Amino acid sequence: MMRVPPFKYVAPKTIAEAARALRDAGPEGMLLAGGTDLLPNMKRRQQTPKVVIGLSAVKDLRASLRGADGAVTLGAGLSLTDTARSPLVADAAYRALTTAASKVATPHIQAMGTLGGNLCLDTRCNYYDQNHEWRQAIDFCKKAPGPHGTAQREVTHGTCWVAPGSPRCWAVSSTDTAPALVALGAEVTLVSADGERRVPVLSLYKNDGMDYLAGKRRDEVLTAVHVPALVGWRSTYWKLRRRGSFDFPVLSVAAALRLGPGGVVEGARVTLGSVASCPLEVTTDALVGRPLTDEAIAAFADHAAKPARPLDNTDYHLSWRKRVVREYVVGALRELRGDPPGLLARSAARVLPVLA
Ligand SMILES: Cc1cc2nc3c(=O)[nH]c(=O)nc-3n(C[C@H](O)[C@H](O)[C@H](O)COP(=O)(O)OP(=O)(O)OC[C@H]3O[C@@H](n4cnc5c(N)ncnc54)[C@H](O)[C@@H]3O)c2cc1C
Ligand code: SF4
Repeated sequence: MMRVPPFKYVAPKTIAEAARALRDAGPEGMLLAGGTDLLPNMKRRQQTPKVVIGLSAVKDLRASLRGADGAVTLGAGLSLTDTARSPLVADAAYRALTTAASKVATPHIQAMGTLGGNLCLDTRCNYYDQNHEWRQAIDFCKKAPGPHGTAQREVTHGTCWVAPGSPRCWAVSSTDTAPALVALGAEVTLVSADGERRVPVLSLYKNDGMDYLAGKRRDEVLTAVHVPALVGWRSTYWKLRRRGSFDFPVLSVAAALRLGPGGVVEGARVTLGSVASCPLEVTTDALVGRPLTDEAIAAFADHAAKPARPLDNTDYHLSWRKRVVREYVVGALRELRGDPPGLLARSAARVLPVLA
């Protein structure tokens, strides 16, 4: 049985107390929300904070509301179950978020895991998501001591086993809700002992498997997610994973669209997940101002697939995953156009036989 290493537990009751505790703990401190990512990581000695600041008693982190302008604020401490079921985001405009939250892991993990924890999820790699002994046997890797620089006693080799000689780590951003929230144009509030600020979700991330949360300072608590009022928009989230019942994504496509008269695209946002160390936003200029024809969708999907560079450090063959990016973009946009589900299934089936 794997056990967590010893640590001091702090249980603040307010956001201000949590921010102060995080500041006081310095590099030795980490926040614990649902614990569904951090606790397994501690057991595997990937992250070994000496001070764990539990957020479960901070009620304000679960507060949600709709503002006078129609924008929705969701507390970062909301469970993924409550996020998926929140009446505030029941409209089709927010379906990317509710679908993404409802596809994280299993119902049990969704009940424990939080929206904030999902946005701050550690990046993943086949050479990293192993127990200490397994990683020790390969002499660890660049990321092995953990991205937060918490107290580590391991001596790292400095090699990336995925791309030896590479100056960076290629571990994959595998959060489901981040691509969805980027596609919805969401922002987050970050609170430290020094004050608070509000930034776009996308700006939290950097395409670096170790420094993936470069947009959030170590001493900041992510307290809330703000989704704008999206009148006339529809959104969706397509997730590729080996087991439909539960698995981390190995590719996801979040898309949001506003169609005007004659099916002309008035606004579009598309984000790819799990194909880099951060969510990748795709430029949609080619879609806007034109009808969403099959030809427009096909040309856009070719363009959208270009920045996706899956590496051989998660599930499935990387070239097949690259091909599926295009098919998933086509499928997501056709769904938002209102194509019948049968057509979408046939589109997806074009790539699925390669799985065999
Ligand atoms: C078997 C299994 C399957 C999984 N499948 C998926 C999946 O399909 N998709 C997916 O996205 N995830 C998956 N996960 C990962 C995890 O369950 C979810 O990402 C979950 O949402 C994490 O939230 P949490 O509250 O449990 O985070 P925690 O484990 O508590 O924390 C995760 C990280 O976020 C930081 N953090 C937490 N809250 C805050 C905050 N408010 N402010 C700043 N930092 C914070 C922590 O310090 C830590 O670094 C899976 C996990 C397991 C064990
Ligand atoms: S991508 Fe390389 S450095 Fe990063 S976790 Fe994997 S093996 Fe380690």
